[in-house]
Amino acid sequence: MATSILSDANRRLERALKYVTISDDASERLRYPKASLIVSIPVRMDNGTLRVFQGYRVRYDDTRGPTKGGIRFHPDVTLDEVQSLAFWMTFKCAALNLPLGGAKGGVTVNPKELSKFELERLSRGYIDAIADFIGPDVDVPAPDVYTNPMIMGWMMDQYSIICRKLSPAVITGKPLSMGGSQGRDTATGTGAFYVLQAMMAKFGQVPQTTTVAVQGFGNAGSVIARLLFDAGYKVVAVSDSQGGVYSPSGLDIPSIQQFKTSTRSLKAVYCEGTVCNIVDDYTLVTNEELLALDVDILIPAAMENQITVENASAVQARYIFEVANGPITSEADRLLEARDIYVFPDILVNAGGVTVSYFEWVQNRSGLYWTVEDVNARLKTMMVTEAERIWAIAQELAIPPRTAAYVHALERLGDALNAKGTRDYYVGGL
Ligand code: NAD
Repeated sequence: MATSILSDANRRLERALKYVTISDDASERLRYPKASLIVSIPVRMDNGTLRVFQGYRVRYDDTRGPTKGGIRFHPDVTLDEVQSLAFWMTFKCAALNLPLGGAKGGVTVNPKELSKFELERLSRGYIDAIADFIGPDVDVPAPDVYTNPMIMGWMMDQYSIICRKLSPAVITGKPLSMGGSQGRDTATGTGAFYVLQAMMAKFGQVPQTTTVAVQGFGNAGSVIARLLFDAGYKVVAVSDSQGGVYSPSGLDIPSIQQFKTSTRSLKAVYCEGTVCNIVDDYTLVTNEELLALDVDILIPAAMENQITVENASAVQARYIFEVANGPITSEADRLLEARDIYVFPDILVNAGGVTVSYFEWVQNRSGLYWTVEDVNARLKTMMVTEAERIWAIAQELAIPPRTAAYVHALERLGDALNAKGTRDYYVGGL
């Protein structure tokens, strides 16, 4: 899976390179990660035994600023996967014009098998192992799959112990009481909502007559579903890993959110809870069925590789907003494009998370903390400005929004790399 993500990302890069005039030097630089670190992390387990875990941190490109990217705790983590995710972060930060480069980290572990004490020792041990490789001016980690604010707090604390000074700006996604930012927990769904609204205006699509299906009712998916509901869109289907619910007349998202929080299952909302009475015609759907529903907008917000050559022809939505990272394979992309389905890409749509992480880093460095209203207002300006620019590039060059987003990011990366001097500069100066 890891290498296929990297080769998919590279295919998209090669396609975008055709539309950008960047120097050969710059495109050559972007093909390789700047630095990759592999570490062994010894952890004393609760039963007294010692286990050694493998960890990674990759800084892909730092031409535009210190590198930024999450830390993943997952049994499938490999160096390849971490390198490809770091590559992705490089383009996401450039597309949003953040003064940051791209990075990623990970530990090969199933965190569900560890006690909380073991998880804390692993988190602190990971920082002991990579401390020389990160720093507020060098590389700034954040949470990713199976890491959370508490883990970020332990990691910041450990780094501060090593440096013998409080260093909140070394990591983002921290608890609010340890220098986290207001609005970070809802940033990805909120940023995606701003992009969706700006793009729907281009098509004259009004909320009241627009139907939406959301795959994945987690941190990101439930936030955008709620914002769409509040704005008057008809959210007709939502799902989680257990399956989904569909009602053509629209679902009551606030009730689903409330029941999901208390029962941790969507099905319970409709089969057991009192919300059964709110919607009279609903059906249970599988995730496969949800992706093929007759809706205007489809929002994959669960995981990668959900729309593939096998099921792309069943998709009926006219617009897709990728809240998850990599939910559509590059082959499926071609099939959707041939059917004039608009795909708004992950490197734009879900960039609200890294944008508010950037705000957290700025607040930590300045010591001045913003209200949630400040955070969301700045987030909206940045998301809408970059979405509009990407849309304009797509129109000018008659290319899909995904390729336009890569073109946009490449122009910025190319400018920054060229500013350090290219072959033409040095040959001309001899
Ligand atoms: P999460 O764990 O909070 O939620 C994931 C949801 O997807 C859960 O409801 C889960 O039940 C569901 N799910 C899992 N497997 C599924 C399947 N096979 N079919 C349908 N649903 C399934 O995770 P999240 O933070 O909301 O992240 C979701 C996606 O958004 C990921 O791809 C993540 O990389 C991406 N993303 C998240 C953030 C963020 O800040 N949270 C930022 C950028 C990108």
